[in-house]
Amino acid sequence: MGRHAATAERPGTTVVAATRDLVKVYGQGPAQVRALDGVSLDLHRGELTAVMGPSGSGKSTLMHCLAALDRPTSGSVVVDGVEVARLRDAALTRLRRDRIGFVFQSYNLVPTLTAAENITLPLDIAGRAVDRAWFDTVVDTIGLRDRLTHRPTELSGGQQQRVACARALVSRPAIVFADEPTGNLDSRASADVLGFLRRSVDDFGQTVVMVTHEPTAAAYADRVVFLADGRVVGELRRPTAEAVLERLLGLTEPDAGGDG
Ligand code: ADP
Repeated sequence: MGRHAATAERPGTTVVAATRDLVKVYGQGPAQVRALDGVSLDLHRGELTAVMGPSGSGKSTLMHCLAALDRPTSGSVVVDGVEVARLRDAALTRLRRDRIGFVFQSYNLVPTLTAAENITLPLDIAGRAVDRAWFDTVVDTIGLRDRLTHRPTELSGGQQQRVACARALVSRPAIVFADEPTGNLDSRASADVLGFLRRSVDDFGQTVVMVTHEPTAAAYADRVVFLADGRVVGELRRPTAEAVLERLLGLTEPDAGGDG
């Protein structure tokens, strides 16, 4: 293959989500774009993984396929032991609702609901009981105790994103996908949100995958996976912001992105 296949099993780790030879093609004929061109990737339980790469390298497409928001053209996506590609729509909806947490760049809170109501909304929609002790743990860890009755417009961007993080965690999902979670935040609020995602991994054993453009954000991760042209082209463990930046610069140089 001559490419990095980031699938090596490490001792003592459980794979929560995995792709094999994942291909996603958009469009037809000459207008066709291979957004993902054979991605094989294992995501391990209790790790924070950052996905990075130049614009157009396939990060969003990979997240959407992993999070069962989009269907692959070919290849396999397994999340929490379930082959996503084979699921019918109703089962896909259940998987997303029950086993996956989402954090988006734009928070996606419901403006008419309080912070507390936003946090429990997915459980309420699913008709699932809220585990109050767990709710309290999440809310206290993320520092939202005194904001629970506020509506989104009464909260700063950073507070809104912390509500979104709490909402993602309160259902105890197998995996949380965060798409540019700090893209709209200043550095202080970013540090709060990233610190919380980090703690959710360290203290609660949560599995988190995050797309980011920012080396300082990626430095919170246990592992950074680099994409270019729809392929995995490398990874870093225990990344520093400097090492991430260096690797990214290599990917965007004109001669980079080949197999060599
Ligand atoms: P990234 O998130 O790394 O910027 P994307 O996954 O958004 O990359 O896009 C990968 C490639 O697929 C790009 O060339 C993009 O233009 C293309 N693409 C993404 N979504 C669509 C779509 N819905 N229709 C057509 N092309 C798309």
